[in-house]
Amino acid sequence: MEIMKTLRGTRDILPAETVVWQRVEATARQILTNAAYGEIRTPIFEQTELFARGIGEATDVVGKEMYTFLDRGDRSLTLRPENTAGVVRSLIEHKLMALGGVQRLWYTGAMFRYERPQAGRQRQFHQIGAEIFGSNNPRADVEVIALATQILQTLGLKNLHLDLNSVGNGDDRQAYRQALVDYFTPYQADLDPDSQDRLTRNPLRILDSKDPKTQEIAQAAPSILDYLGTNSQQHFAQVQELLGDLGISYQLNPRLVRGLDYYTHTAFEIISDDLGAQATVCGGGRYDNLVGQLGGENTPGVGWAIGLERLILLLQQLGETPANQLDFYVISKGELAEKQAVVLTHKLRTQGFSLELDLSGSAIGKQFKRADRSKALACLILGETEAQNGTVQLKILATGEQRSIDQATILNDPQALRQELAPN
Ligand code: ATP
Ligand code: MG
Repeated sequence: MEIMKTLRGTRDILPAETVVWQRVEATARQILTNAAYGEIRTPIFEQTELFARGIGEATDVVGKEMYTFLDRGDRSLTLRPENTAGVVRSLIEHKLMALGGVQRLWYTGAMFRYERPQAGRQRQFHQIGAEIFGSNNPRADVEVIALATQILQTLGLKNLHLDLNSVGNGDDRQAYRQALVDYFTPYQADLDPDSQDRLTRNPLRILDSKDPKTQEIAQAAPSILDYLGTNSQQHFAQVQELLGDLGISYQLNPRLVRGLDYYTHTAFEIISDDLGAQATVCGGGRYDNLVGQLGGENTPGVGWAIGLERLILLLQQLGETPANQLDFYVISKGELAEKQAVVLTHKLRTQGFSLELDLSGSAIGKQFKRADRSKALACLILGETEAQNGTVQLKILATGEQRSIDQATILNDPQALRQELAPN
């Protein structure tokens, strides 16, 4: 029979790699928890309307990347392509803002986009994201940016830079929109087909085009920064000043508009110099109209999402391959010894030790080889002699030191073994 394989754009993450994922997730969880963010878990599928309305019909995500299907009840559902829309839906549904103050939320999980798979771009990928709702203060923008950089730095990433822009508010963009139409119309025939279409529907999106020719034309396009009203200018100036206070360097990129329509004011990306074409590790910004657009009371928001596959590619390039350290590798041979080994192993596990029990029944020498590969601190060895005497051999793998201990001693006072494992 033909062997079944993962679908294009999806992959299995095997134990050798999940240790890296676990470290990333634990680091992010700790940093966000310490900053008073609560974790939110929303469903992987939602009604299609949520994303169409939230992300914007003219975006690539909604226009061509969504996994949309009819369920058995003929409802149009979509696998979430990002999670801000779902979080906002939940915020409204559960009236979280009625709790007062601001709401700080974070999430992690799988997202789905029908894209051409390549390094750092998959159809099922994973993000960690953070959002603050209820503050339109520039301090909130800077808090989320600072947390994203803190996570990436704590993980040891280097050669990252922060691109920053303001896309203003609706009024600013109204004026800017016309300037873009005026600028791009003479080049219309040279734009990629999507951008030609966007010229009338959503000219700002042209700036986000990945087409080289369009990008070249866009180089000289008018800058949004020249179209910001006084309020938007002030907001943006304060964001920059605070970033300066925190010693977070950035570069202004007036062509940064992000791939989702909901952004207002601050937009930013954290980009790696060590990845190829898919170099943006974190993207985010402010979205003051999204909650209102999705039917909630007007509530400002700001947040980001980190792409975990890209982050993990970077960690792998750094040669980060942490392993979970085992305390004991348990070797046994012979019927009675094997039974005793099961009891001893279980007892020590319940006492918080980590142990791998060799189940092979193969020769002691072979089990020793596996013990060496396991990178455990020590071996517990039960042969026939030990089984008869009620003892066990304890061998420290780093030094080769070995001694005999009574099984009863271990069972009575398991914590005494900690001493044996501590380096002296
Ligand atoms: P890109 O321009 O690379 O397509 P985007 O603007 O579509 O990114 P966002 O929607 O802002 O990305 O998502 C935030 C982050 O999630 C991205 O910076 C990236 O790290 C990651 N990401 C987005 N799409 C994918 C994907 N298909 N596969 C892997 N990671 C992704
Ligand atoms: Mg994209």
